[in-house]
Amino acid sequence: MKIHICECCKTPIRLRFIKGNVHIECPSCHQKYQFDDKSIKKYVLIPLLSVGMAVGTSLAFLQKRTIDIKFIYIIGVSFITASLLEWILVKVGFLKYEKS
Ligand SMILES: [Zn+2]
Repeated sequence: MKIHICECCKTPIRLRFIKGNVHIECPSCHQKYQFDDKSIKKYVLIPLLSVGMAVGTSLAFLQKRTIDIKFIYIIGVSFITASLLEWILVKVGFLKYEKS
């Protein structure tokens, strides 16, 4: 998952899938990057969107399940969706990095 090209040395920087990617660092020259101000504002919406989607789909598909199953489903789905959304939004350039 190479996604951001270092401005200094042109090394591709991989995104981490689980830990979050607000701050990334070039593995070659150690230049640090972070989301710019606009991207931070969009970034905070990702968990909201993810939880919203998880709750919405659980209401649609898990109506007859117990609350435990729903709870696990919502946590799992929102976590996976948030990771995927973050990666996709960086990939398409909706979230942008700047040097920090
Ligand atoms: Zn670099």
